[in-house]
Amino acid sequence: MKLRNAPIKWKLFFYLSLFCVVLLTMLWLFQIVFLEDFYKSIKIREIKSTSSLIAKNIDHEEISSLITRISQGNEMCVSVIDVGGNTIYQADILPDCVIHKMGIAQLYTLYQQAKNGDGTYLERFNRSAFRNNQYQVDGFTGNVPKADHGLMESMIFTQVVTKSTGEELLIILNSTISPVNATVQTLRVQWMIITGTMLALALLLSFYLSRRIARPIIAINQQAKTLAKGNYDTQFPDPGGYREISQLAKTLDYAAGELSRVEALRRELIANVSHDLRTPLTMITGYAEVMRDIPGENNQENLQVIMDEAQRLTSLVNDTLDLSKLQAGMDQLNLESYDLTASIAEILKRYSALMQKDGYQITFTAENHVTVQADQLKMTQVIYNLVNNAIHYTGEDKRIQVHQQVTNGKVRISITDTGCGIPPDQLSAIWDRYYKVDKTHKRQIIGTGLGLSIVKQVLILHHAEYGVESTEGKGSTFWFILPIQP
Ligand code: ADP
Repeated sequence: MKLRNAPIKWKLFFYLSLFCVVLLTMLWLFQIVFLEDFYKSIKIREIKSTSSLIAKNIDHEEISSLITRISQGNEMCVSVIDVGGNTIYQADILPDCVIHKMGIAQLYTLYQQAKNGDGTYLERFNRSAFRNNQYQVDGFTGNVPKADHGLMESMIFTQVVTKSTGEELLIILNSTISPVNATVQTLRVQWMIITGTMLALALLLSFYLSRRIARPIIAINQQAKTLAKGNYDTQFPDPGGYREISQLAKTLDYAAGELSRVEALRRELIANVSHDLRTPLTMITGYAEVMRDIPGENNQENLQVIMDEAQRLTSLVNDTLDLSKLQAGMDQLNLESYDLTASIAEILKRYSALMQKDGYQITFTAENHVTVQADQLKMTQVIYNLVNNAIHYTGEDKRIQVHQQVTNGKVRISITDTGCGIPPDQLSAIWDRYYKVDKTHKRQIIGTGLGLSIVKQVLILHHAEYGVESTEGKGSTFWFILPIQP
């Protein structure tokens, strides 16, 4: 099992155990392995500093009381002798002191060794060397303590010091190093108990924590799976506990909401499109049959109906195709400089038949001609869609105003109708794909809900500003702004 993909439980356990192991290793090293070395080095430092304290005060008249005090305070035996081996000062505190048992030869060796060094000499030895060997190890079976077991190690420090009178003296200090074996043994047992407890705790803690951390994630995962299966009504209640997980739940909730919204729109579109496709098709076949079967009906008017309906079908299919092309990002802009004002006038001219027949009044106001750098074909589509919408949704007076305004090197084109307007809460949604304010299907208003979506895509591609202002019951103004080509 790779740790990278391991469950939270095992990861937590791994890291917690690692932490315990590091902690316990440190403790073990310092408390057990190096304890003796630490202790000894501290003792050695102590004996050296004591010796130099005596050496510093060797000319003091109260030196003997200082030596007594040092001996008692530091639990050391002190002996100061002259070169002849005569004791000048001494303080005895250890029951088993070795320096007072030394013969003149041994003392002389110590003196020589100090002289050979930098005036000081340290020697550590096991005290059993000074005892008769009372231990006969041979022949015993089992865990027999060694001869030196439990015996204190001894340490002798000698320092040659010269008095102000020029007389050379030898300071000899004797200190003991208590065996740490017993302590180490105790610590070792304790350490084992601690290790066991810590590992068990790490295991318990990691199980507990992982349950607490993983449970909400697992719950969300279960929900997400049902979402993935297409159940867009899945809810993601806040599992609580952690901010990140709450945020994840919120995000998934939002995603589920969006998915179900898109799904609803898609269903609606299929219903609408099939309805929209079927109506003109029914009309076309109906009229065609009539014209075939009844000779008198084979006239210009009926032919026009067929053509109009076929046109409706074409625009419906085109809308759908245009949008999917734009959304796939396949469609790149084919930029060119052209006269926008003339282009708009040209587009509006094509509505003259409609204006005459149905009484629509489309006015275009522009102070002068402006040139823009844009994709003429796509901008024409934008204007068509906006004008078509205005025609679809304008009021009883059937008036539509197209206005061109030039300010600060930019041109603003607005298309205003006098229709029912758009409720403020739907203003932002109308640009979405398949969105329709009025869900009830009116025959006279054919719409896929794609028109404004195409407008939006094209204007975004042009980096153009765009928007809509609408007052309910009074009409709407759709506008966009493009930079002018000088
Ligand atoms: P449709 O093909 O339904 O017109 P659009 O994307 O062009 O699709 O428009 C989306 C919705 O915005 C329309 O269904 C309509 O409700 C609303 N809408 C668009 N233009 C106007 C307008 N000029 N006046 C009122 N409502 C409008």
